[in-house]
Formats: sequence, C-alpha cells, structure tokens
Amino acid sequence: MHESRVTHGPKIIAVANQKGGVGKTTTAINLAAALVEGGRKVLVVDLDPQGNASTGLGIQPSEREKTTYDLLLEKTPLQDVVVSTQIERLDIAPATTDLSSADIDMASNDRRSLLLRDALRHADVSALGYDQILIDCPPSLNLLTVNAMVAAHSVLVPLQSEFFALEGLSQLMLTVREVRQTANPGLRIEGVVLTMFDVRTNLAQQVEADARGALGDLVFQTRVPRNVRISEAPSFAQSVLDYDTTSKGSEAYRALAREMLDRGVAETV
Ligand code: ADP
Ligand code: MG
Repeated sequence: MHESRVTHGPKIIAVANQKGGVGKTTTAINLAAALVEGGRKVLVVDLDPQGNASTGLGIQPSEREKTTYDLLLEKTPLQDVVVSTQIERLDIAPATTDLSSADIDMASNDRRSLLLRDALRHADVSALGYDQILIDCPPSLNLLTVNAMVAAHSVLVPLQSEFFALEGLSQLMLTVREVRQTANPGLRIEGVVLTMFDVRTNLAQQVEADARGALGDLVFQTRVPRNVRISEAPSFAQSVLDYDTTSKGSEAYRALAREMLDRGVAETV
C-alpha cells in the first residue's frame, strides 16, 4: 500500500448573497461561535472591504497588520494573517478597506479566481488545526465572491425574509453553476437560511413558503428570528452566544450549527 498524499484540511464554507444587509456577517460570526461552542476550531475569513466581521469580533483596524488583501495579493501565508479573537478556538483573517481595490489589483493576474483557493487549500493550512473555515463575502458577485466560491466546498446563503428576497437568488445560483463548470466542480450548496425572520408577519411566512417551494430541502428548517440581541452583540465585540447565551438568537444559531452538521450537504442547485 502506498502512502496517501491527501491532506485533510478544514471544511470551507462561503457565506454569500450579493444583497447587502441580509445577515451574511451576522451568520458567519454566530455560526462560527456556535461551531466553536460545539468543540470545533474555526476560522472566519473576512472578505468584505467593510471589515464588519473583523470589527464585530473585536479586531481594531490598528490590529489588522496583515489582512486578506495580503493573503490574496501578496501571497502572505494564512498563518501570518490570522489573529485570535476573544473567543477561544475562533480566529479571524481580518479585512480592511484596502480590499476594495482587490478586484482591480487581481485583474491582471492569470490566477485571479484561484488566489483564495491557493491560500486556503495550501498544505500548510492543515497544520493550523481548523475544522471549519467560514468566508464572509462582500455584498456583490464580484471577483472576491468568486474567489470565495472557488476556494469553498460549499455555499451558505442567508436569505432575508423580505419582499424581493428570492429575486437575487437566481443570479447567485447562476454564479455557483459557472464556478462549478470552471474552477470548482465539487462546489455544493450548504443551504439557504432564513434570517431576520418574524413569525408574526404574513410577509415572512410568504417568503418562507416561496423559498421552500422553489428550493425544497435546500432551505434549513432553522429560521433565525429577528432578535435585538443579535444586532447588539457586535458593538460589544461579542457573538450573540457570548452576549446573551439564552437569547432566541443564540438558540437559533446553535440549532443552525446542529442542523448543518447533522444533515450533510445538498447535491444540486
Ligand atoms: P450583511 O453582512 O449581509 O450585509 P449583516 O449581517 O451585517 O448583513 O446584517 C445587517 C444588519 O442587520 C446588521 O445591523 C445586523 O446587526 C442586523 N441583523 C442581522 N441579523 C439579524 C437578526 N437576526 N436580528 C436582528 N438584527 C439582525
Ligand atoms: Mg457583511
């Protein structure tokens, strides 16, 4: 028998939706925190020039010495970019506004879609011991988001329970298919999670019915409720699980983590 050369790196999930304000960053942070609570070691990769995930996890701009810009464009190794957070076993690769020029700066590079994959699926990454990497994508289907989808094993889509929520989804799924046909044939949909869900409104119920009708089992049973504790937590540089551990928001992200780990990844779009 010959020695296996396969390295078992972390499972990589891109949290993506080209709409802003739908709960990508909130989901990346709190799902990460829930996975950590379950005993895993997790890295959040902040791929949004706004750096909300970095701020929300308490990393001041002055502490962002090396960033995801360096990871993509300077070939800085992941271990030199990651910083630890207040939460044990949760690290972040931070972002700054530098990243806003990344699209242009990557354009002339032949490997422009593959830069994040090169960085995250590097053999050395296994040694860092992460079980899971969550990539917080920018609100756009730009080259950064494509990099995330090329690097990832799956895409997790937060869907805000509002009118027009489903409209952008077909464009997103089209991008997933394009990435599959080119750089990343193994890319799967992890699932669609309804966010800021308000059970009392007909609209939310309607969005849920439409989403389940169109996407079936791709939609997680877990719905993340609109919960003020979730929106307050980042200003204390905490996950909602630390900020108010018994809140509805905390329970929802714990349930989402459990459901995700239990059910495995859906096959098709
Ligand atoms: P995105 O990263 O998609 O732009 P965010 O995660 O930053 O979206 O969320 C947008 C805003 O909505 C933020 O102010 C966040 O605190 C708030 N928010 C997100 N999810 C919830 C929720 N379940 N309940 C209440 N507020 C939420
Ligand atoms: Mg965000």
